[in-house]
Amino acid sequence: MRQHVTDPEMCIQCSACEMACPVKAIECILGRYCIDHDLCKDCGKCIRDCPTGAVDCFIEVKRIYDQEEQSTWTVLPSE
Ligand code: SF4
Ligand code: SF4
Repeated sequence: MRQHVTDPEMCIQCSACEMACPVKAIECILGRYCIDHDLCKDCGKCIRDCPTGAVDCFIEVKRIYDQEEQSTWTVLPSE
């Protein structure tokens, strides 16, 4: 399955994505911008406002990572 995430190596922590999200699916945890998979409506507004492309990131996963897990990433998971 596919999960919408932010790329830790591209994010400059500007918070534009968090402000753009109409359903508050993006939360800053420990400086990482983490997307709640269940809340995200795939509207693309965060992607439009992100200056680096860090939130234009979709990864194939075997299970969904919650926001706490995403907050620990320094690179994207390899699976
Ligand atoms: S795609 Fe839309 S709903 Fe999903 S995190 Fe981005 S702004 Fe929020
Ligand atoms: S808008 Fe992009 S660069 Fe800014 S905090 Fe979100 S993911 Fe990071």
